[in-house]
Amino acid sequence: MPLNIKVGDTIQTKKKHPCGGDRWLVLRTGADFVIKCEKCNHQTWISRVKLEKSVKEIIVKE
Ligand SMILES: [Zn+2]
Repeated sequence: MPLNIKVGDTIQTKKKHPCGGDRWLVLRTGADFVIKCEKCNHQTWISRVKLEKSVKEIIVKE
């Protein structure tokens, strides 16, 4: 079942970024996502399939 991840959501990943951060801001959704590391601001493209496997938690901002 696909996860409901929207632009502006923050996701926590199981695997940490080399910088030590594990929270990412979602900048673009679709078949491929663009996410930005909240700690070092590194942006990366990731496929939906890969992202869904690595998500630990979705932090929805109220
Ligand atoms: Zn980082």
